[in-house]
Amino acid sequence: MSSISAPRGVRDILPDESWKWEHVLDVTARTAKDFGYREIHLPVFEHTELFSRGVGETTDVVEKEMYTFEDRAGRSLTLRPELSASMVRSYLENRMDKLHQPVKLWSAGPMFRYERPQKGRYRQFWQIDFEAMGSQDPYVDVETIALSLEIFKRLGLSRLEVVVNSVGCPVCRPVHREALQDFLRPRLNDLCETCQTRFDRNPLRILDCKNPACREITDGAPDTISCLCDECSSHFSEVRKGLDTIGAAVSIDKRLVRGLDYYTKTAYEVLSGDLGAQNAVCGGGRYDNLAESIGGPHTPGVGFAAGVERIVLTMEQQGCSFGRQPLLDAFVVCSEEGIRDEAFKLLYELRSAGIAADIDYSGRSFKAQFKFAGGSGASFACVVGPEEVSSGSVTVKDLQSGEQRQVARGDVASAIMTSGHKNG
Ligand SMILES: [Zn+2]
Ligand SMILES: [Zn+2]
Repeated sequence: MSSISAPRGVRDILPDESWKWEHVLDVTARTAKDFGYREIHLPVFEHTELFSRGVGETTDVVEKEMYTFEDRAGRSLTLRPELSASMVRSYLENRMDKLHQPVKLWSAGPMFRYERPQKGRYRQFWQIDFEAMGSQDPYVDVETIALSLEIFKRLGLSRLEVVVNSVGCPVCRPVHREALQDFLRPRLNDLCETCQTRFDRNPLRILDCKNPACREITDGAPDTISCLCDECSSHFSEVRKGLDTIGAAVSIDKRLVRGLDYYTKTAYEVLSGDLGAQNAVCGGGRYDNLAESIGGPHTPGVGFAAGVERIVLTMEQQGCSFGRQPLLDAFVVCSEEGIRDEAFKLLYELRSAGIAADIDYSGRSFKAQFKFAGGSGASFACVVGPEEVSSGSVTVKDLQSGEQRQVARGDVASAIMTSGHKNG
């Protein structure tokens, strides 16, 4: 019988990588605080309806990618493919409309999509997600963009650029839809198969098709910006003004419509890296009708999500720092079995003092313990032997320089603390 492996499309985040994630999540949490966003933990599964109604029946996510199952009572549940719908659900359910508006929340955790596994894309993936709900103010759109830029700047990502578009609202979108359909109708048969099915159901998505034939056809197609109503038009110019104010590098991409139905007005992405090696590191926008589509009262909102795997990968490609890997500060080396208790006492004293310390549990020889200490990444070896015990001292060896000295038993922790070599 072969041993059981992880299901296709998922993976383990091992300690050699997880410390990098910790850094990304730390920076995210601190930046969130600086922008007045509070953390919320949401369930990993929700009623299927939340996503089919909230995200949209005709989106790829809902049509092909959801992990939907029936629980033991026959309810249809779905592992969350994204967070905005859950955020809005929680806002409505917990009557956050009674709070000071906008309510600004963030969360991090795994999302689930049944996609074809490929490099850097998994069926369980992590996102950080920020949402500001309860305000129409275009400067709230700007704030979410500024927040994402600040996180990426603090993580050290290079050449950050904001790409924006406005996808309109229920007033102006039908105008654009008709103009787009009129434009495409004579060449409908030249569009790719997917776009032909999109023509009636979701023609806007044809604009962001990557198929070269479709792109050529849509090159001169009417864009959403040219069809915006007065309200959407002035909202969009306020957003651009705000982005100027914060000094962001901005370009307008008329093809940026994003894959989800709920976006209204502002849609955006943040790119990082040099031309040719540019990565979209986050995507977001405004979703003023999401709350209504899941049965709530009109509640405007705006936010973004960014994939943690994608961020870490981009940071690695760009040689960004993840801070210092949290390794051991000290390894306690015990020279004789008979004084192991003394060694353990020292070990727990160090740990209580906030020094990351460990000891051998597999009966290694004195020499092998030293070798293991060196390989563990610890800065110091603290040797406890019969001589040390009788003289009330510990031999502290700096594993980088090789220097060693006798330190009085009670001073070991402070000697390590003040050495400048303490990790983390
Ligand atoms: Zn409009
Ligand atoms: Zn196409």
